[in-house]
Amino acid sequence: MEAIRQRARAAYLGLAIGDALGATTEFMLPREIQSTYGLHRDIIGGGWLRLKAGRVTDDTEMALALGRALIAKQGCDARAIADSFIHWMRSRPADIGSTIRRGLRQYLATGSPEAGYSPNAAGNGAAMRNLPVVIATLFDDAAFHGWTVTQARVTHHNNESDFGTLMLGELTRLAILKGQAAPLQSRGAALAARNPRFDWRTFKGETSGYIVDTVRVALHFFFNTYDFESCLIGVVNQGGDADTNAALAGQIAGALYGLDAIPRRWLKKLDPLTREEVERQADILVYLALARQNSTVSDT
Ligand code: MN
Ligand code: MN
Repeated sequence: MEAIRQRARAAYLGLAIGDALGATTEFMLPREIQSTYGLHRDIIGGGWLRLKAGRVTDDTEMALALGRALIAKQGCDARAIADSFIHWMRSRPADIGSTIRRGLRQYLATGSPEAGYSPNAAGNGAAMRNLPVVIATLFDDAAFHGWTVTQARVTHHNNESDFGTLMLGELTRLAILKGQAAPLQSRGAALAARNPRFDWRTFKGETSGYIVDTVRVALHFFFNTYDFESCLIGVVNQGGDADTNAALAGQIAGALYGLDAIPRRWLKKLDPLTREEVERQADILVYLALARQNSTVSDT
């Protein structure tokens, strides 16, 4: 169990580190990155948001907002999640995606925590924040599926968003539970067979905020590298939606390779308050997963 707790922490730190590292090259082209930074490999801030080094963006902040709602309710409550996102939106975040803003405004106007179906809501904004659900439902497949879709549809009600969010979540969950690459390969291949647009093995360099591109770039670098550091460096030097792509690659690479594989120089740069909440949430969410498992057992 201690190994699972550590891999959950590493996944959450991996998410935040990918976000902080990738924010520098978000919306850049690979050749612009090359001419500006050579190989981008350190957390230096800047980027279009002009961030202080170590600051994270909407990806980590929304995951933390989701985690707070799950912890406060000891479970999944769509309204509590939506309210937590609203609280975050009102904190004047450095950035916010357009589908997220639209979804949250719709919630304020209608009171419904499920956005209307939209073919245009296939961005990666639901997937980028799903890690707290993954951790809190480690031992319960049905809850993983149900909670993922519930939190996703607060802003993104779309089949591709659902599929990509579930695919990344499922692989991260397996990595935290097993700590081995082989089951991830076979599960990833099975999911890609079900929806070939998400197959990372035909990745050609697309890096937009479209969920299909995000899954492919994150998994391409995850499955074609052998450690946390080279996986993240590969992703962020592709540019595009670099912070989100690297946050998701970082969550799954962190889960597989564990705490010891995260470079010290990156951990030291990460904003200390963010790091503290990330580590605390990871621990509490694992306890929540365990408590739910025990109560299910005693109920039957
Ligand atoms: Mn971001
Ligand atoms: Mn982004």
